[in-house]
Amino acid sequence: MAAWPVGAHSHIRGLGLDDKLEARPNSQGMVGQIRARKAAGVILKIIKQGKISGRAILMAGAPGTGKTAIAMAMSQELGDVPFTALAASEVYSMEISKTESLTQAFRRSIGIRIKEETEIIEGEVVEIQIDRSVTGVGPKTGKLTLKTTDMETIYDLGQKMIGSLTKEKVMAGDVIQIDKATGRITRLGRSFTRARDFDATGPDVKFVQCPDGELQTRKEVVHTVSLHEIDVINSRQQGFLALFSGDTGEIKSEVRDQINQKISGWCEEGKAEIVPGVLFIDEIHMLDMECFSFLNRALEGTMAPVVIMASNRGMARIRGTNYQSPHGVPIDFLDRLLIISTQAYNEDDIKQILKIRCDEEEVDMTEDALAVLTKVATTTSLRYAIHLISTGYMVAQKRKASKVDVVDIKRVSALFLDEARSVQYLTDYQDEFMFSEIAPSHGDRM
Ligand code: ATP
Repeated sequence: MAAWPVGAHSHIRGLGLDDKLEARPNSQGMVGQIRARKAAGVILKIIKQGKISGRAILMAGAPGTGKTAIAMAMSQELGDVPFTALAASEVYSMEISKTESLTQAFRRSIGIRIKEETEIIEGEVVEIQIDRSVTGVGPKTGKLTLKTTDMETIYDLGQKMIGSLTKEKVMAGDVIQIDKATGRITRLGRSFTRARDFDATGPDVKFVQCPDGELQTRKEVVHTVSLHEIDVINSRQQGFLALFSGDTGEIKSEVRDQINQKISGWCEEGKAEIVPGVLFIDEIHMLDMECFSFLNRALEGTMAPVVIMASNRGMARIRGTNYQSPHGVPIDFLDRLLIISTQAYNEDDIKQILKIRCDEEEVDMTEDALAVLTKVATTTSLRYAIHLISTGYMVAQKRKASKVDVVDIKRVSALFLDEARSVQYLTDYQDEFMFSEIAPSHGDRM
C-alpha cells in the first residue's frame, strides 16, 4: 500500500489526449469518457492560447462519472495558468459575503505575468529561444536551458551549440549542460513539458545575443501571481501574512480598482500580461439566485477567468426559490453555458479505472478479485468500489496475504454498506433511530 496519502484523483496526470486532441482510451490515468475529455481538451487548448476569458462551461452527469476528474486533469495540464477549485457550498461563509467570496475566487483564477529584467548571476540558468516558426511544426517556440556559470563560455559554446544541436537529439524543453573544455553538449533532462523530437537546424535556433554581437547580460524573469495575491498584499487591513493564513476578510473595492488600473498600465507598457485562468465550481446547484446573478455580471468583466461548473443534478430546485430548473441553474444563466455531458461507464472502463486505482494505492489484487470488485461497482457505484480497495487490502493483511482476493472483497462489502443497502437498512429499521422521519423518497437527487 502506498506510503503517502493517496487522494481521490491522485492517479490523474492529464486528459490523456493525442496531438489531434483525440482521447486515448486509457492514458495519463484517464479511462473512457472519450467525448467529454475531447471537449475538455478543446477548451483547454483555447485557454492555453489565452484566447478566451469570461466563458462558462457546465459539466453535467451522474455522480461518479468523472466530472471532477476531468477538471483535475485540466488543471494538471494548465502549467502556470492559474486554476482554482471551489465547492459552491464554500461561498456561504460567516466571515465574508457570498459575492466577496466569489470575487476572491475569480481573482485567484486570474494570473498576472510580470516581466522583470535582471542581471545574469553566476550559476543561474540562461534560456535560449528556439523559434520553430520556420518549420511550422509543433509549438512555435521552445526553450533550451544552458547550465553554466561563465559568461564567455556561454557565448563561445552557444555558437558551437547551433552546430551540435543537429547531431545531438535535443528536444525543446531540455536542460543541457555545456562542457567548458570540449564544447560537448549533454542532455541533463527535461525542464519543460510538451517537447517533441525535432531537428534543430541553423536558422531554427536563436542564441540570446545583443545586436552588437555581445552576449546579453540581462535576462527577463517572469513571475506569475494571481490578482487576488496582489489584492491581499496591497490591502493595508490584511497585509501579506493573510496569504498564508487564508484569513483575508473583505477587500475594499477601492483597493481592487486601484490594482486594476495599475495592472492595465503595466500591460500597456509591456511589463505585464493578464492570463485568464480557470475557476472550477463543483456542486453548482448549491448556489442561489444572488450568486448566479453575480456570476452573470462578473463573467462579462474585462478580467474574467474561464468558469467550469459541475453538477450531478437533473431537474432541481434553484436554491432559495420554489422554481425548478435543469441542474438547479436558472434558465437565463444556463443559456450562456457550454455544456459537456459525462456518460455512465461500461464494465470494461470501470475495471480499468479500478486497476489504475489499485496501482496508485500500491495494492496487489488478484484478477478474480478485480472482476468481483468490478461487478460490485456496476451494481453499486464506482466510488464505493474504489473505497473497497484499501479496506480490502487491510483485511487481506490480517490474514497475512500479500494480494487482495475475492474473500477480502466479499468481506469488506459485507462490512461496509453501499448507498442502496444503507437506505434499505434505514427504511427497515428507522423506528430504532432517534428523530427519524419517513421521507417520500431518499435523498434529493433527481
Ligand atoms: P460527483 O457528481 O459525485 O461529484 P464526479 O462526476 O465528479 O462525481 P469523480 O469524483 O470525478 O466523479 O469520480 C469518482 C472517482 O472515479 C474519482 O476517484 C475519479 O478520479 C475516478 N474517475 C472517474 N472517472 C474517471 C476516468 N474517466 N478515468 C479515471 N478515473 C476516473
